[in-house]
Amino acid sequence: MTSPAPSDSQIPSSEREAAVLEAASTGLPAALGDLGRLVRIPGIAWPAFDQSQLERSSEAIAELATATGIFDEVRVLRAAIPGTDEVGQPAVLATRKARNGKPTILLYAHHDVQPPGDAALWETPPFEPTVRDGRLYGRGAADDKAGIMAHIASIRAVAEVLGDDLDLGVALFIEGEEEYGSRSFATFLSDNRDALRADAIVVADSGNWDSETPGLTVSLRGNARFTMRVRTLAHASHSGMFGGAVPDAMMATVRLLATLWNEDGSVAVEGLVERDAPTPEYGEATLRDEAGLLPGTTPIGDGSILGRIWNKPAVTVIGIDATSVEAASNTLAPEITVVISARVAPGQTGEEAYEALQEHLRAHAPFGAELTFSDADLGNGFLVDTSGWAVALTREAMRDGYGVAPLDLGVGGSIPFIADLVREFPEAQILVTGVEDPHSRAHSPNESLHLDTFRHAVATEALLLSRMNDIVI
Ligand SMILES: [Zn+2]
Repeated sequence: MTSPAPSDSQIPSSEREAAVLEAASTGLPAALGDLGRLVRIPGIAWPAFDQSQLERSSEAIAELATATGIFDEVRVLRAAIPGTDEVGQPAVLATRKARNGKPTILLYAHHDVQPPGDAALWETPPFEPTVRDGRLYGRGAADDKAGIMAHIASIRAVAEVLGDDLDLGVALFIEGEEEYGSRSFATFLSDNRDALRADAIVVADSGNWDSETPGLTVSLRGNARFTMRVRTLAHASHSGMFGGAVPDAMMATVRLLATLWNEDGSVAVEGLVERDAPTPEYGEATLRDEAGLLPGTTPIGDGSILGRIWNKPAVTVIGIDATSVEAASNTLAPEITVVISARVAPGQTGEEAYEALQEHLRAHAPFGAELTFSDADLGNGFLVDTSGWAVALTREAMRDGYGVAPLDLGVGGSIPFIADLVREFPEAQILVTGVEDPHSRAHSPNESLHLDTFRHAVATEALLLSRMNDIVI
């Protein structure tokens, strides 16, 4: 890739940028109004919910995209789900071609939301946008309808100021099933490869350091989740008959699972790697507060706290099939099934981590217990190459849009579809940004968007678009 060169323009860039920022600011009430309208549409990709709502929300977004006036084409599309004869949920794809050697940017967000969960836990109804104390509450108000509106609002601002001088190529891609596993995402990318091809991809689905300090997400952990069945006996027996002479499956399982961690709670699985990278200061008191650690309970792991969450593996047992407490009887269980979920350090593939975990578990199976593994769900982590020009432009835009220098952030979770983006568009620079702050409570009751963060995020993205329009690649 050639390095970008500044191009000529009629209006001096400082004047133009002031106008872009002004337009972004003036457009905020309208953007929040549109965001509220999107929040009112309960578009959830789980089959148990009314699927027509996702059609409504995709149509509403297509209208917003069309009304910006910058796109050559706006479509609502679905793609096949591999291995099934189904298609995925509707996505919006709006495109305009770059002119005069300018770059193309792909703006991603998703319009489906998490189910609301227990309605009683919401202080105001989940699908009624409500402003309280500088925050907009509602399911999807942050994750990720605010991401959609940050894209739309920043496009509006640059369209208004640049008019015919807007030469930047833009593809707006708003997915409809991110919260439900992005099942048709890979097919969507290959079906629409040419329309989606870009020099830089903004994935507006992550968070910031806090409501004032922007963050560029530069690493994500991967995941390896699987089911393990542990068998020791051909059938159940009375524990008084054989207890003490043969191992029951629960005993074998408990002892086996205990080998996964060291005394300090760090992961003890050989072959699971960790990454060495600096992390911002984050004290134990903050961890205690944010994670809800009980007063007498200690944290686990070693090294810096964020290093444990961003750069090291974690192993959690997230499900177990055994006799319930209610049905407990004096019986030796022949078989126990558990679901193990590992977070994988960025840099290691989900596949490698799964291999390492299986090897560890087989090597440590007590009393020759039989193990079977199944239902593996593997996702790769992600490390941003931070040397690219679009990364530098994004950091500068964040600094100017928020008025505070951005931090490089890691994320302990995964955005599995990023691996699909990297595979399909290896040349593109991927910029993981977002509108969330640590109090957004995405996926939980009382999800909310900090209005100042949104304002800064829109200013940032408008500056980014305007500055990308100034370079020739
Ligand atoms: Zn999201």
